[in-house]
Order: sequence, then structure tokens, then C-alpha cells
Amino acid sequence: MSLLEVDDLRTYFETRSGDVHAVAFYVFPNDSIIKVGSETYWGYWIKSGNKIVLAEKWAASEKLVKHEEMHALLQSPLHPQAYFNGPCGDLTYEGAQ
Ligand SMILES: [Zn+2]
Repeated sequence: MSLLEVDDLRTYFETRSGDVHAVAFYVFPNDSIIKVGSETYWGYWIKSGNKIVLAEKWAASEKLVKHEEMHALLQSPLHPQAYFNGPCGDLTYEGAQ
């Protein structure tokens, strides 16, 4: 399966924060989930290369994009309450890593 880079998502991202413009967005086309090992996700942040992969079905979800952006900002796969349900709003997500 090929990865398609989504330039408009990256542009959206860059306008939100100059700190994290190095993040690259990718979309899994024609799919609603991303499989990582035995787990499935709607979106997935990859520390190596600072990449965010979104299943195409959810790629337009602002909340999911922000959720994955937060991982990139924190450089962590964890979900600290102060960041994921704090001043930035409720970014908690079932099913998203
Ligand atoms: Zn997450």
C-alpha cells in the first residue's frame, strides 16, 4: 500500500504552529484503519522521521489531526491529561494512538 502525502494537511499544520513544521503527514488511501502490529488505529504518530499517518476515512477530522499533532509536539506516544484534555480542548480519542 502506498502512502500519499497530503499537502493541504501539512499547510494547515504549519499555520497552526511554527514549532512542528517538520512533521510530515501521510494518508493511507481507501482505508478506515491503520494496522500497527496487532493493533489498529485511525491515526498514528511515528517518532522516527516525525511522521503522522492518518487513515483516509478520518483524515479530515480536525480533532484527530490535532490529537496526532499533540503527539508530535510532545514527542511522546503518551496522553498526558494536561495536554490532551486541557487548554487545547478535549483531544482524547478512543481508538487513536
Ligand atoms: Zn494518541
